[in-house]
Amino acid sequence: MNVYDGQRIAAMLTARGMTQTDNVADADIIILNTCAVRAKATDKVFSALGRIRNEKKPDALFGIVGCVAREAGSDAFRRIPELNFVLGPQSYHKLPEILENPDTKLLNIDLGGLEKFDELPQMGKSPAVAYIPIQEGCNHCCTYCIVPYTRGRELSRPFNDVLKDTAHAADTGAIEICFLGQNVNGYKYTAPDGKTYRLSDLIREAAKLDQVKRIRFTSSYPTEMTDDLIDMFRTEPKLLPFLNMPIQSGSQNVLTRMNRPYSLNLYIDIVDKLKAARPDIQISSDFIVGFPGETDEDFEQTMEIAKRIRYINSYSFKYSPRPHTAAAIMPDQIPEKVKAERLAKLDAYLNELQRDFNESCIGKKFMCLYEGPDKTGKHLVYRTPYMQQCITDAPSDTSFAPEMAQIEITAANKASLRGKILS
Ligand code: SAH
Repeated sequence: MNVYDGQRIAAMLTARGMTQTDNVADADIIILNTCAVRAKATDKVFSALGRIRNEKKPDALFGIVGCVAREAGSDAFRRIPELNFVLGPQSYHKLPEILENPDTKLLNIDLGGLEKFDELPQMGKSPAVAYIPIQEGCNHCCTYCIVPYTRGRELSRPFNDVLKDTAHAADTGAIEICFLGQNVNGYKYTAPDGKTYRLSDLIREAAKLDQVKRIRFTSSYPTEMTDDLIDMFRTEPKLLPFLNMPIQSGSQNVLTRMNRPYSLNLYIDIVDKLKAARPDIQISSDFIVGFPGETDEDFEQTMEIAKRIRYINSYSFKYSPRPHTAAAIMPDQIPEKVKAERLAKLDAYLNELQRDFNESCIGKKFMCLYEGPDKTGKHLVYRTPYMQQCITDAPSDTSFAPEMAQIEITAANKASLRGKILS
């Protein structure tokens, strides 16, 4: 989602005649697009701001957008007095105001709903992977999560607006469409004529576009995985056989305290249904370890569920208390040392699962999407349908880098695959 927001901000400034630079000292405007999900991300923003204020040109405009802006609000100006603007994730389209009045301080952390989508200019050219937001905010109040505070209540964008953005992306270069939302599979839009549209309807329409070869969506809430959506995995070959469906914990008690009130059996049933619909589907998850009150036994249950589902690629985090969340003030906060030990143990196992899956791909052939050359320029980097990075030798004719290629996997390690382009 932040990649998408960053692209829109860049497009907005490009439309005003600006160009991008990698050098802070050259920039006339410096924007940090930020994430507030864990305390570490927020801390990094403030240390980067401290560094940048010494490197930038004295008159360069300088500010933060996104969730840390919303989290910190006017306090950001107190901490870094040189800041010119602080704009939340739903108000960054107000950025031009600071260009027009550079001597003021601009603070806007309102939750403006879907306004930004109407006000931002379309991007001229789409990257091969187009992120299309279909929703803002989230109505699940997971007790650890700051997102409902920073991005507000859940709002689904009008169906036709999403289709328009999808068609525009396809017309200007997109090959893969990634629908985005904090609770993406909860997408629900009722049109003025009373007809209700779901994510499955969006997938069906996007798949009709010839230029679009792959479709995915992120991130999903387990119990929003309705039958119409599961069925799309059976009927729509362009939908990738890979799904991030965060479970967070394998302990029923912890899930209840996280306010994620699904039963583990229900989660397992959903995975089974997905496998029945699409036998080659693979699942990834997010995990939080060291949630308040998590016992050794709770943690072992998380290890168990990882083993049961055999996630192929996961993200795992130490619980981080966040402002405006219920869990931050729960008793029995877990000591840092215990969190670190649990995370190390879970990570080691998740890495093992990932390596096993990668090795099981050797000898298989996948249709892959071109991402670009690697750093050395000697190899091409592709993405498999499971979003694994697959590295191939660059052909001697370097202009030959098909955007979609059939690749045979020849080797694997934990992080990536090696492959040979067949056609
Ligand atoms: N709706 C998104 C949430 C984005 S945050 C989603 O479901 O993915 C991405 C992940 O960060 C979450 O799934 C969760 O595992 C982790 N996370 C969120 N809040 C956290 C916190 N306070 N401490 C540690 N990890 C957290």
